[in-house]
Amino acid sequence: MVTAGQAYVAEVFEKVKRANPHEVEFLQAVEEVFDSLAPVFDAYPNYIAENLLERLVEPERIISFRVPWLDDKGQVQVNRGYRVQYSSAIGPYKGGLRFHPSVTQSIIKFLGFEQIFKNSLTGLPIGGGKGGSNFDPKGKSDAEIMRFCQSFMTELQKHIGPSLDVPAGDIGVGGREIGYLFGQYKRLNGYENGVLTGKGLAYGGSLTRKEATGYGVVYFMEQMLEAKGDSLADKTAIVSGSGNVAIYAIEKLQEKGAKVVACSDSSGYIYHENGLDLAAIKQIKEVERGRIKAYLDHHPDAVFYPREEGRIWDLKADLAFPCATQNELEERDAKTLIQNGLIAIAEGANMPSTLEATKAFQKAGVLFGPAKAANAGGVAVSALEMSQNSMRLSWSFDEVDEKLYAIMKGIHQSASQAAEDFGHSGDLVVGANIAGFLKVAEAMSQQGLI
Ligand code: NDP
Repeated sequence: MVTAGQAYVAEVFEKVKRANPHEVEFLQAVEEVFDSLAPVFDAYPNYIAENLLERLVEPERIISFRVPWLDDKGQVQVNRGYRVQYSSAIGPYKGGLRFHPSVTQSIIKFLGFEQIFKNSLTGLPIGGGKGGSNFDPKGKSDAEIMRFCQSFMTELQKHIGPSLDVPAGDIGVGGREIGYLFGQYKRLNGYENGVLTGKGLAYGGSLTRKEATGYGVVYFMEQMLEAKGDSLADKTAIVSGSGNVAIYAIEKLQEKGAKVVACSDSSGYIYHENGLDLAAIKQIKEVERGRIKAYLDHHPDAVFYPREEGRIWDLKADLAFPCATQNELEERDAKTLIQNGLIAIAEGANMPSTLEATKAFQKAGVLFGPAKAANAGGVAVSALEMSQNSMRLSWSFDEVDEKLYAIMKGIHQSASQAAEDFGHSGDLVVGANIAGFLKVAEAMSQQGLI
């Protein structure tokens, strides 16, 4: 029998599909969340009467704008900028900016939608938003990056503010870009350090922000393993990507006694049987902004597999951490990993596993930490950066790290509890979706028809 909750969720999903027929990534993210929510609407029929889901799935506002800039040859270039202000039910819009040629409205909407639930799960008062541009930072000079960031912020600054909308970094937006963006915001509006997070330590950034997402993913994995009486020590791990999230996931894994044997970038992956040398990876990626293949210059005994010649998920490992991008791990990869004895996976990237891959892992009993729970450490420390900015003081590295650890533990607990309460014990996908949704729904319900 179809319950009232199931019928309502299905009806709203049909409407979302009709209204956004070409937004494939957005529909994928919506489907994953909607799949979990029917029991909530059965338990709280007033949310159906308030048509809460149809309201939540429609962004409060989408801003799309022209970003013209001059390249080093003096030629005019034009990119498209976005900011999706998705939900302010529980706090100011909060979410990163992504600069990558693949960026479309669908990508920014999927990220913004996910961000609502992730931010709610942290327990901190932050709403959901996301932004970015189809600008490709690869191969650009510092001066080009600066001119692009200045042009982007000249428009974006009209729509953001410390109590309104607080962007941060994401793919292609790290400390350098946040610096240029902040400089331009300040030039136009005066000093307001709470308007962006991920800032440099010299001008209002928080210690541990750079490490937060990667460390947080590992803390989340540790919680999943501990709940089964297991630990990270002596486990073999693979981490995809070699950007901000991947690097600090590797750092924390090594600190906790795990051996990380592989990481990647969009050109391919490296395998180092004895365990990766993180100092070499930081030098290549953070200092030289080079390609991962250069790891072989430091360690000729490692192997590089170009993208066309193999997938990082073909390797044997106990633990997997997809930390690069959406849909990087497909059903066939999940099957290979399962066959090779994978115990657990925690998603550092946003929506890195396809829906089919996620289902395959869960069916095989692999512990699965979904992105909106496992990678919430970054936005959590961003919210702590906002707190420090408001108080005009800064906490020590250890103080922020302890808070991060407590938040990740709290997220694991609330997702586990919600899964149990709604009849899906052990399913953290359902648990995270429900736990994230409940707080937002309550806030929306109390605030009337807005
Ligand atoms: P970075 O730009 O620092 O690094 C991204 C990494 O992923 C690079 O190694 C990049 O390789 C690789 N990558 C990106 N796109 C692709 C692609 N299409 N195919 C293959 N590889 C790709 O980004 P972050 O580390 O900050 O972000 C990684 C993921 O984590 C994203 O999904 C992001 O949304 C998510 N995330 C990030 C947070 C943060 O605090 N930074 C917070 C929460 C989630 P290459 O250099 O070759 O492009």
